[in-house]
Amino acid sequence: MTKKLIVGNWKMNGSLATNAGLLQALLAGLNDDAIAVADVALCASSPYLAQLQTLLQGTALGWGAQDCSAHDSGAYTGEVAAAMLRDFACRYVILGHSERRQYHGENDDLVAQKAQRALAAGITPIVCVGETLADREAGRTEFVVKRQLSAVIHAVGHCASEIVVAYEPVWAIGTGRTATPEQAQAVHAVLRSQLKAASAHSSRNRILYGGSMNAANAAELLSQPDIDGGLIGGASLKADEFLSIIASCP
Ligand code: PGA
Repeated sequence: MTKKLIVGNWKMNGSLATNAGLLQALLAGLNDDAIAVADVALCASSPYLAQLQTLLQGTALGWGAQDCSAHDSGAYTGEVAAAMLRDFACRYVILGHSERRQYHGENDDLVAQKAQRALAAGITPIVCVGETLADREAGRTEFVVKRQLSAVIHAVGHCASEIVVAYEPVWAIGTGRTATPEQAQAVHAVLRSQLKAASAHSSRNRILYGGSMNAANAAELLSQPDIDGGLIGGASLKADEFLSIIASCP
């Protein structure tokens, strides 16, 4: 069985003081059993990556960013290049999160370019895909997630097995409304076969579920055959809850 991957998406939350407290509690609570069943990482806002590097270096917790530029360097005010994230030893970068697609107009092509940049910098992209409620109700879930993933697979070519995919139904994010394990598994199976068709090394791909995952529903979701971990928003800001999600990994 693939080792699970549990990633906290802190979104635009935190401060030097609250981050330090949260990290301390997580490090204190992470036991060997948890580390044996799951890789764990936290994705913070860019100004805090230096803090994560300082506090997490040499620990079992990895870290990453929540976005990167589609460009290498140059006149792109406000952007953060993948190579800059590498300077802070980021292992992961979340790309194409629905909040970026929705509020920042990111489309499949842009997300695909960002994934290329991340891989070129030696950072694992966590590529988010997911349908809106309107898509789901119109029976377009499979079409939408396949289209979103296909743009990235096409752009990264032989590196397709190096990406992590996060299935995040937009209607489940931050709403307290989780996909049922059956709904999530069905979409994960679709994504799995798409990854299989793209690479002979697709056993390396991990497919995470995200969208109101919490301590109460994690065990059932994480026991589905094609759910290789979780991308956790709100529940990653509470040490106890995040630790119990990690402990729910089968
Ligand atoms: P949520 O967020 O767990 O708060 O629903 C997940 C995400 O947006 O990555």
